[in-house]
Amino acid sequence: MTAAPGLLLPSPLQDLGGGVLLKRDDLIHPLLPGNKWRKLHRNLAAAEAAGASALLTFGGAYSNHLRAVAAAGRMRGLRTIGIVRGEEHAPLNDSLAFCAAQGMELSYLDRGTYRRKDDPEVLAPLLDRFGPAFVVPEGGANADGVRGCVPIAAEITEPYDLLVCPVGTGATLAGLARGTGAEVAGVCVLKGAEYLDERVAALQREAFGESGRNWRIDHRFHHGGFARTTPELAAFTDAFAAGHGWRPEGVYVAKALYAVLRGGLGAGGRTVVLVTG
Ligand SMILES: *Cc1c(COP(=O)(O)O)cnc(C)c1O
Repeated sequence: MTAAPGLLLPSPLQDLGGGVLLKRDDLIHPLLPGNKWRKLHRNLAAAEAAGASALLTFGGAYSNHLRAVAAAGRMRGLRTIGIVRGEEHAPLNDSLAFCAAQGMELSYLDRGTYRRKDDPEVLAPLLDRFGPAFVVPEGGANADGVRGCVPIAAEITEPYDLLVCPVGTGATLAGLARGTGAEVAGVCVLKGAEYLDERVAALQREAFGESGRNWRIDHRFHHGGFARTTPELAAFTDAFAAGHGWRPEGVYVAKALYAVLRGGLGAGGRTVVLVTG
């Protein structure tokens, strides 16, 4: 992203020993960490190529994606509009306060309407109200978002047998897998989200015209669901932080690390875990 100085690319590799390496995408940029930068930069270029002066996007009240869009819009001189799932709460939580401080205009949709946010019937009134804007889907999960994740694997200079990443929308997994001939396992952080298997295949078809067979989603490590935790996961995260001097992000990254370091995912081979944020 040309107008964001100080991007750390390629992101560093960290050897944990025992055949496990970390690809530290969380270090790419302090305000645009990890897969959020990967998924946004082509969308930003597309918005600018289309002559857009505003970005409109969607997310939950603690969405890392909303934060990243707010920060990227500010860096690129684009207006940003964030449509938040659920009711407005005063005062804003830290995440939304950050968005507002970056200049993002926030608006709220009740959960039922939010579910239909990609319908023209819901989208058109939003665009009428906020003015013309380039729409980035929730999580940056569109073809450009997926394509932005393709180069990650080629940056890995050590041999590996398995690549592991956390899965929210699956856009990162879809692009990551496209960029390697090796096996890729996504660790799903949502409970009961088996529909994501088809969603990732659809994202690959949208981005590349075909879907590959070198990836799978592991649904065993959600620890109760999105943003939920278990005593095992909390203890693991504390021990990891104490042992390595940094605390992995809790909603996504800790679950992927747990799957590999405690759950036996990739055991016996060389595994790279993508630290997405
Ligand atoms: C948003 C996010 C994800 C989810 O990535 P998807 O491409 O939506 O699957 C994973 N890790 C972190 C740290 C995130 O912020």
